[in-house]
Amino acid sequence: MKNLNIAFEDVVIEMKKYLSKKESFDIVKKAYDFASEHHKDQKRKSGEPYIIHLNNVAFTCATLEAGPHTIAAAYLHDTMEDCDVSFETIANEFNEEIAFLVESVTKLKKITDNASNSEDFLAENHRKIFIAMAKDIRVIIIKLADRLHNMRTLSFHNDEETEKRIAKETLEIYAPIAHRLGINTVKSELEDLSLKYLEPEKYQHIKMLLATKEEKRKATLKIMEDNIDNLLNKYNIKHTISGRVKSIYSIYKKMYVNQKTFDELYDLQALRVITDTIPECYEILGYIHAEYRPIPGRFKDYIAMPKPNLYQSLHTTIVAEDGQIFEVQIRTKEMDEIAETGVAAHWRYKENTVYSAKSEQKEIEEQLHWFRDLIAISDDTNAKEYMQILQKDVFGANVYCLTPKGRVIDLPAGSTPVDFAYKIHTHVGQSTVGATVNGILVPLSTELNTGDVVDIRTTKNPNALPNKDWLKFVKTTNAKNAIKKTLSKYDNELRRDEIIDEGRELLENAIRQDKDLDKQKVLKMIEDKKFLSNLGVENVVSLYVALSNHTININSLVNSIKQEEEKTKTVTAFTRKKNNVSIDGIIVPGVDNIAISFSQCCSPVPGDEIIGYISQGKDIKIHRKDCPNILNQKERIIDVEWDYDYFKENKIPHYADIEITASTRDTLLQDVINHLSLLKITCVSCHISNNNTTLNSIVKICVQVNDINHLNEVINSLSSSLTGVYDVHRYFKN
Ligand code: MN
Repeated sequence: MKNLNIAFEDVVIEMKKYLSKKESFDIVKKAYDFASEHHKDQKRKSGEPYIIHLNNVAFTCATLEAGPHTIAAAYLHDTMEDCDVSFETIANEFNEEIAFLVESVTKLKKITDNASNSEDFLAENHRKIFIAMAKDIRVIIIKLADRLHNMRTLSFHNDEETEKRIAKETLEIYAPIAHRLGINTVKSELEDLSLKYLEPEKYQHIKMLLATKEEKRKATLKIMEDNIDNLLNKYNIKHTISGRVKSIYSIYKKMYVNQKTFDELYDLQALRVITDTIPECYEILGYIHAEYRPIPGRFKDYIAMPKPNLYQSLHTTIVAEDGQIFEVQIRTKEMDEIAETGVAAHWRYKENTVYSAKSEQKEIEEQLHWFRDLIAISDDTNAKEYMQILQKDVFGANVYCLTPKGRVIDLPAGSTPVDFAYKIHTHVGQSTVGATVNGILVPLSTELNTGDVVDIRTTKNPNALPNKDWLKFVKTTNAKNAIKKTLSKYDNELRRDEIIDEGRELLENAIRQDKDLDKQKVLKMIEDKKFLSNLGVENVVSLYVALSNHTININSLVNSIKQEEEKTKTVTAFTRKKNNVSIDGIIVPGVDNIAISFSQCCSPVPGDEIIGYISQGKDIKIHRKDCPNILNQKERIIDVEWDYDYFKENKIPHYADIEITASTRDTLLQDVINHLSLLKITCVSCHISNNNTTLNSIVKICVQVNDINHLNEVINSLSSSLTGVYDVHRYFKN
């Protein structure tokens, strides 16, 4: 546990290591005073004055050599949320940049505090956090520092569930971000603290294992340190050597994830040799290998091939005379700083250069291409997928391969040339036809290893498609999704389940958003054969498919559902009282309380001559006077009229069936639908049949119109504006 009693003076001492201008210190002091004043009545859960938290956050930022504005913002980061200080106040008292930083951190906090435990909700929240953070590296630095102190004081929550939730979030979001930015000091502490709350027993167990052999380990390490020191002195190479403590979390991972025993962990005993130049690093490596036997396969050259978080170092594992195993890391001073604080070291604040947040951000995105992924993947993937891609493809990447031009592509273990190709660019993935690894032609399913130089062979054919079989071996979510997406356009079979789900989701969302709709009732209604056939579909599955393809519009479906519900209500209600009132826009002289429905065989619209038929169910079905189904009926017929006033007040869509005869062409149905949407006409169903002898097609559509004039407009427009159309007319259904 790090010292928590950090005072303002400690922050100043830390700042003095890299800052000297008076105004840098003035603005931080002002922020300290401002925060002390505004938080003066607040205490942390630990009982400590609130300013202790702010001192800690500012101190961590200063150890990462953040600029004075960032440190000032660290002091102010809780004032908006906890003390109701406005953006304007901070902008006026300090400046807009500081206000912007505080506001960004505050927004992030709101996202986090909102956390519920539903998986979707969490995933969505996590995505928001990543995207918000990725916009400005300084926001990440403050947020990491804030989280670090909150984790150090987590036990004061006294609530296991909250502690576990926060620890899990830290391990899933903040530690990976710190890792990927190379801010190792923060990353290791965040991981260890998270583990302490998530796996308390294992954490204590490892701590105990480390403690029991600590003395002995220290002693052997010291001997090895001296030996190497003497060796290098003999060759007059400038160097410093230090021992290295391995983090509890990294031991935990090797023991419980990779199933190693504590004694099998080679790198428990590790030495770090720091020197001046890169050639000296290799020289030192040479002398050490000449003196001690290196373990094959354990040498790694991260100088020639830096990790995506910019980490550089030589790693080797050697065996001492007595059989003890040591890991040795060799690197320059600059590399060592980057190994500790990563991005922060690389882009440390320099007082005498003009700081531009924008250009820094651009530079970071150029050097850390995965950083751009944080923002870029979000386009049209859902939140869960986003987290999957992030955790697997971005944070989980530990195999580093090279393009022939030397660009490093990082991939999760088990990745193949196809994953590699998609990682370069979706287009490259799409047009992949083969690959060589280290100059040898290999199957596309070959597993790649770190250091492989991969050359992707692509086709110039612009219509090239990915191979369906690739799905069997690709590793990255990114490649998988891209392949599926492209193929789905061509392979409906592959997408059928997805399509049905999409349609179902559309309907369920509509139900959720409309408080008039009851889910159970609706689901029952759409099982009804008659209802479905009115919509022009055979069963529920085809309804979902139609919804997903937009051949049935969700809004018109909702309208139909509501109309259907109204009908059933009226049938059971029989409540209308007044004489000669209209029922649903129909006047039935002398009758005031009967249910009305419009027959589907002739679909009357206002303006049509109509007649009523009293059905067995004792409701009245309205038909057109010339409807063949009614022509020979003498009994059960009743006179009815349209109540045109009713329609002035109530916009009720009426269905009409139209038949179009036209010469056959591929795009006919599409042209009809497009034309209807130009006319702003809702088409509830459509059907096309081709006659191969006459080379004519018959398109049958059901549209929604207000009245007969509206309908005639549609018919005229269809027959005059579409090419190849011979005839357009209303038709009767059987
Ligand atoms: Mn805070």
